[in-house]
Amino acid sequence: MFLELESVFNTPGLSLPFDYALEGFGGLLPFAASPRVAGQVKNRAGIVTLEGGASIVLDVRCDRCAESFEYRARVPLAHTLVLSRNREDSDELILLEDTRFSPDTLAWEDIVLSLPPKMLCRPDCAGLCRRCGANLNEGPCQCRPEGGPSFHTNESSGFAGGPGWAALQELL
Ligand SMILES: [Zn+2]
Ligand SMILES: [Zn+2]
Repeated sequence: MFLELESVFNTPGLSLPFDYALEGFGGLLPFAASPRVAGQVKNRAGIVTLEGGASIVLDVRCDRCAESFEYRARVPLAHTLVLSRNREDSDELILLEDTRFSPDTLAWEDIVLSLPPKMLCRPDCAGLCRRCGANLNEGPCQCRPEGGPSFHTNESSGFAGGPGWAALQELL
């Protein structure tokens, strides 16, 4: 999708809205549907900004429990567009080659940068039991008998400060 921005660049106060489905990146992320990209390009006293958001839905699997779920997010878009720039200008500025401009790549990069390092079905996902593979979100598995964890705790504390440690000190 291309925007014709010549009049926006030439006219302070003018804005051009956009609202479209981002196509062409479907094979790169497991989109449930094409991302919706919407916003406006606006000239504020000569500064041209692109503002808006991309709504995404991904069909993914939880990195902890492997359950399928839909990851939904609205990725904010906020960039300043320029047709030329000086050496001292910030790298944040988006240099356009032409006033005919497609926000596709910009939106795509913002989407990719917004993704979390791990996909979790919920922030407190309990994951799978490492021994039996049970999904611990559905309740405790049978691997931990009653009193099991406390037995381990007693054993290790006995090692650290109990008779074993005292016996070792007598040898020194
Ligand atoms: Zn999960
Ligand atoms: Zn288990």
